[in-house]
Amino acid sequence: FDKIDGVIWYDGRVVPWQDANVHVLTHGLHYASSVFEGERAYGGTIFKSTAHSERLKRSANILDFEIPYSVAEIDAAKQLVIDRNSLPDAYVRPIAWRGSEMMGVAAPTNTIHLAIAAWNWPSYFDPAEKLKGIRISLAEYRRPDPLTIPALAKAGGLYMICTISKHKAERQGYADAMMLDWEGRVAECTGANIFFVKDGRIHTPIADCFLAGITRATVIELAKRRGIEVIERRIMPNELGGFSECFITGTAAEVTPVSEIADWRFTPGKLSEQLMVDYTAEVQPKSTKVAA
Ligand code: PMP
Repeated sequence: FDKIDGVIWYDGRVVPWQDANVHVLTHGLHYASSVFEGERAYGGTIFKSTAHSERLKRSANILDFEIPYSVAEIDAAKQLVIDRNSLPDAYVRPIAWRGSEMMGVAAPTNTIHLAIAAWNWPSYFDPAEKLKGIRISLAEYRRPDPLTIPALAKAGGLYMICTISKHKAERQGYADAMMLDWEGRVAECTGANIFFVKDGRIHTPIADCFLAGITRATVIELAKRRGIEVIERRIMPNELGGFSECFITGTAAEVTPVSEIADWRFTPGKLSEQLMVDYTAEVQPKSTKVAA
């Protein structure tokens, strides 16, 4: 990232990209007291910006801190970053963390910081290419018991096992890794939720120990709008052979069909394609949306 110019919003000020730094004694760096978001702007408008700002504030509260900006202020700051950097199609990364005044597990009075960066991320929508599907491995690490970690926060610390798992998957030639949960149920991928198709119905794990993605909610809504039944339930790995299609969802992944998970095979089909197309239409800025 050292070659990227432009500006980053940092604690209410707009600073050059290179100057948006933190001290090495930052609490967030040592003890993972950080929460973040991943969002995407399409045609200059961030898709579901307010839902992401609300989730950011909620994640901070779960980690016992309060971001000193309102949802409306965060929404405005994100838009400013998009506008000031002239980035109509961008990935947006807000991050909040506990600062560096006190070093120790407890640091209740440390300053809470918020920064927002964005970078160019065009959406290349080639359905034919995407419909080949991606290959996914099975991760060794499992999503932990929600009684052992704040599972529903989008917190930096929860990504440690995701990074390890994704690195291993990529080294083995896979695009991502699917994680089971602490009970051995299918959970999600390292940065995306997962769906399966069987007999025209969609099945997806209950989001009780992993992030219930904003894209996941959007895709469930899009499927229901088409009259497709969506069943949220416990899914065990030994059922995977019974599903015809599989796809993952996330801000970055959008709707991405899957062709393999370890030894299981899927054939991206009509339902995955329909939801890919519907999602692409849904994320367009409302003012330019063409009536169906
Ligand atoms: N699970 C994890 C672990 C993620 O990092 C993400 C991406 N934020 C998701 C699911 C999907 O969430 P969303 O649809 O809100 O991007």
